[in-house]
Amino acid sequence: MRKNIVAGNWKMNMDFEQGVSLFSEIVNMVKDEVRGEQEVVVCSPFIHLPALAKLSAPVANVAIGAQNIHQAESGAYTGEISASQVKSTGASYVILGHSERRAYFGETDALLAEKVNVALKHDLKPIFCIGETKEERESGAFFDVIKTQLSNGLFHLSAEQFKSVVLAYEPVWAIGTGLTASPEQAQEVHAFIRQTLAAQYGQELADNTSILYGGSANPGNAESLFSQPDIDGGLIGGASLKSRDFLEIIR
Ligand code: PGA
Repeated sequence: MRKNIVAGNWKMNMDFEQGVSLFSEIVNMVKDEVRGEQEVVVCSPFIHLPALAKLSAPVANVAIGAQNIHQAESGAYTGEISASQVKSTGASYVILGHSERRAYFGETDALLAEKVNVALKHDLKPIFCIGETKEERESGAFFDVIKTQLSNGLFHLSAEQFKSVVLAYEPVWAIGTGLTASPEQAQEVHAFIRQTLAAQYGQELADNTSILYGGSANPGNAESLFSQPDIDGGLIGGASLKSRDFLEIIR
């Protein structure tokens, strides 16, 4: 059975102490509530990872992740952070393919495929983001866009490797804009993603893959989104910075 996951994406927010205190609150609130096939993940800036890993280690079903890694193993890449360095902090996930990194840092599908490989090699589970822009939604090209992102970024993986991947459908027009995909719009795309996975890897793998929704998810809309049959949780930006909102979304 696939996991239900609520993942927070703090982006470039929270100084060290602020982040530790927010995460402590989250852990205290969720520790007796998440169980079985449920998981809460917080993807923080790199600076928080070792401290958050210590706090999350004793708590079942709470994990931490990074928001990026470099595609090389190690070496002369001033200012960059590798997959093995992230793994060594105790993190178990990494967000890859976020639309902000695609747009502002020029991350291409080909580069992302390399990052996916190095993440998996070091036992980090990618939370791989895909999603269309406003123009692509309006022109009706979004199914093709999503299929291309999946195929170029991920479909070189073996089925065994793909089992470690979590997907996040994040329509770019919904990120940080207050515009949310309707539950029907999101479900339509999630079902399409699952069909595409089934065609590539078979129905069983498709049924076992968690597909999260992201884009202005909040306590007011999470329930209607997450109750759709192919939506297995969310990747939460703005609302993950407030412990109460994040907790309400999880609940
Ligand atoms: P948002 O961000 O929830 O603030 O829209 C989601 C994301 O970028 O992952």
